[in-house]
Amino acid sequence: MIGGGQLARMMVPPAIHLGLRISVLAETPRSSADRAADVVGDYRDPETVYAFANTVDVVTFDHEHVPQPILRELEARGVQVHPRPEALQYAQDKILMRQKLAELGVPVPDWAAVETEAHLQEFIDAHGGRAVVKTARGGYDGKGVRVVSQADEVRDWFTTLAEDGHVGHLLVEELVEFTRELSQLVARRSSGEMRTWPVVETVQEGGVCAEVLAPAPVENPATLAEAARIGQVVAEGVGVTGVLAVEMFETVDHRVLVNELAMRPHNSGHFSIEGSVTSQFEQHLRAVADLPLGDTSMTAPAVVMVNVLGGPAEGPMPVRYAEALAAHPRAKFHSYDKQPRPGRKVGHVTVTGDDLETVRAQARAAAAAFS
Ligand code: ADP
Repeated sequence: MIGGGQLARMMVPPAIHLGLRISVLAETPRSSADRAADVVGDYRDPETVYAFANTVDVVTFDHEHVPQPILRELEARGVQVHPRPEALQYAQDKILMRQKLAELGVPVPDWAAVETEAHLQEFIDAHGGRAVVKTARGGYDGKGVRVVSQADEVRDWFTTLAEDGHVGHLLVEELVEFTRELSQLVARRSSGEMRTWPVVETVQEGGVCAEVLAPAPVENPATLAEAARIGQVVAEGVGVTGVLAVEMFETVDHRVLVNELAMRPHNSGHFSIEGSVTSQFEQHLRAVADLPLGDTSMTAPAVVMVNVLGGPAEGPMPVRYAEALAAHPRAKFHSYDKQPRPGRKVGHVTVTGDDLETVRAQARAAAAAFS
C-alpha cells in the first residue's frame, strides 16, 4: 500500500482477517496507518518506490498521487500494480477524466480545458456568467475548486501552471444545478468480475463530505438505476482493478452527471464496514490480490456515516471520548489517529438500523460527541 492515510489504516483489519500481509509505504513515521507502516519514504522518489515494491507481490494505493512515470516503470519491471497506471491516470487528472468519460458516452457537465483567461471568460459568458474552475491535478476536499464569474479570479492558478514550466490547462465546467450528490462504488478484478454496492447519497458541506446515506433514499427509481448503470460503464471503460467510486450529481431535471472518479476505497464507502457483508476495504484487497469478490448486500435497511471533523483544539482526542462512547453505544466510531485541525477528517461514525431518519439523528449526535 503506497500512502499511509486513513484508507490504508482501514485496510489493515480486513488484511489480517483474510490472512494477507500488508505493508505500507507511509509519508511520515506517525501516519494513520503506522500499525502496518514498515517503510517511511517519499512516494515521488523513484528509488524509494522501487525498493518498496521489491518487497511485495502487488502494489496498490491509498491516494492517487504516485507519478505516472514511476508507475509505468514498476510495470516495466514486472511488478503487479492495481489499479494499473492506464486506469489510474483518469483519477489523477480531471481533464483526462473528462475526455475519457466523453469517449465512453457518459453524461458529464459541459466542460472545457482552458489555457488562457480569455478562453475561460468566453466559457463563463456562454454559461450564464458563472462557472466552476478546477485544477486538473492535486485537488481534494474542494481545494482546487472555485466558482467564479470573472476569469481573473483564478489568475493565481494560471500563474502557478506557467511557473511549473509546462503549458497548463485548467478545467472549467458549467455550474450544475443539482438536488443531491450520489456515489456508486464498484469493485472490479482484472478478470472483469465486478460487484457494486447500492448507490449512496453523499452530503457535502463546504466541498467536504459530511454524511453518507446508504442506500440513497429513493426519490426517483430511474435516476438510481441510471447512476448504477453509469458506475458500471465507467468501471469497465477505464479498466479499473480494485475499488472505484463514481461521484455524480442528480440534477433538478433528474439527469445524472458524473463529477469525479476515485480509484481506491472512498469516503462514500466507509458505511460498508458495518453496513455491507463485504466492506470496500476487504473488497479492494480481494480485487488487487485477484481473489474472488465478496457479497455486497446491505446488513441493515438504513446505514448512515457521518464524518468527524477536527475542531480548533490541538492535541489528542478530547477527554469527552469515554463519555461519547457511553452515550452512543449503537454508534461505531473509527478514529484515524490524526492531529485535529479545523475541517480535517479525523474519524467517522456509522450507525445501522431500520429507519433512515432515526439512524441519521443517532449518527449525527454521535459524530458531534466525538468531534
Ligand atoms: P475534489 O476533487 O476537491 O473533491 P470535486 O470536483 O469533487 O473536487 O468538487 C467538490 C465539490 O464541489 C463537489 O462535491 C460539488 O459539491 C461541488 N462541485 C464540483 N463541480 C461542480 C459543478 N460543475 N457544478 C456544481 N457544483 C460542483
